Amino acid sequence: MALLQLENIGKIYASEGAIAVGIRGVNLSFDKGEFVCITGKSGSGKSTLLNVISGMDSYEEGELYIEGETTSHYLEAEREEYRQKYISFIFQDYNIIESFTVLENVELALMHIDDKSERRKAALELIERVGLTSHIKHRGSKLSGGQKQRTVIARALAKDSPIILADEPTGNLDSETSKEIIKLLGEVAEDKLLIVVTHNYDDFEDYATRHVRIFDGTVEADEITAKKAELTSETDEEKDGYQDACDSFANGNINEENADFRDTDRGISTKNTKKKLFCSADIKKGAELGAVIFKAKPKLSAFLAVLLIIGTLTLFLLTSLCSGATDLFTDKNMFSHIDGRVVITKRTGEVITDSELEALKNAGITE
Ligand code: ADP
Ligand code: MG
Repeated sequence: MALLQLENIGKIYASEGAIAVGIRGVNLSFDKGEFVCITGKSGSGKSTLLNVISGMDSYEEGELYIEGETTSHYLEAEREEYRQKYISFIFQDYNIIESFTVLENVELALMHIDDKSERRKAALELIERVGLTSHIKHRGSKLSGGQKQRTVIARALAKDSPIILADEPTGNLDSETSKEIIKLLGEVAEDKLLIVVTHNYDDFEDYATRHVRIFDGTVEADEITAKKAELTSETDEEKDGYQDACDSFANGNINEENADFRDTDRGISTKNTKKKLFCSADIKKGAELGAVIFKAKPKLSAFLAVLLIIGTLTLFLLTSLCSGATDLFTDKNMFSHIDGRVVITKRTGEVITDSELEALKNAGITE
């Protein structure tokens, strides 16, 4: 059974009365371990194909099977679940948070790990895998294109999904950096299904195991190239080196630049935290996420916080003023502080007439 199978898939766009064929009658079957390159002229349907596979877009024709299960009946919530479980997406324009460091960007993708020190350990391992250990504390805005794309790859790996999709991942990189990124993609996705859309097949040729060519929304050619063997020629020494690096992180044994992280890394806990519906861990995580958002947009967050405080205070002030003002006109408050004073009013609410007042005085009650 294939991991992913497309059977007569069609996506048709209709906007403002015009109909555009995205893809039509696409039959493809993919498995783990493949490095698939999709090429084709601009407008041929490459992005559409990737968006349908990713679950970001629906399809109108055919059937997409994931691990043998049909998906055409999916509603939005089920497509979201599908995306969560199976898909990581790498975009051309990096989509990292520029004000975050490399470590923070990767940690953000690991929020599903409750334990903070375990999260950090996992982030450090991923950063090591993409070769960015020396840039751990560098902000996104200070990274080169290649370094940004490495960060994105680390984030994609954080999800540990079986399928990685990349739409022109090297589109903004120079040729030398492109090659490094392509090699990295091939290495990190060794046991995954990696599908890449590109304009430059030549750069991928040495690594792709399969080349799918799209023309006018249909599959023009589907060729097994089986070059991936070159990737898996990683020597045992290299593997050991990587393992050593991971072990050394786990032991808090990291270089000077990362000294800040040592103590937290030493305290790694392996205990299983059971998930309750709503527990203190959730509150803690919520607070962490809040801090993360605050850091991402400090000015906007501070502005909103001040606005919220002013709003609350104004509301409080208005409420107390209004209730105080109403109270001023109630008989109870107006006279309650004057001992022994008796207030006489007519039940009908009418004004007491002179003759009635006279009668009251005669009865021994004075104004
Ligand atoms: P590629 O990625 O190969 O350049 P696309 O998949 O983006 O091609 O587009 C394939 C076809 O579908 C094109 O004719 C394009 O105009 C059309 N298309 C893509 N996205 C939309 C959309 N959101 N609305 C309408 N037409 C679209
Ligand atoms: Mg495109």
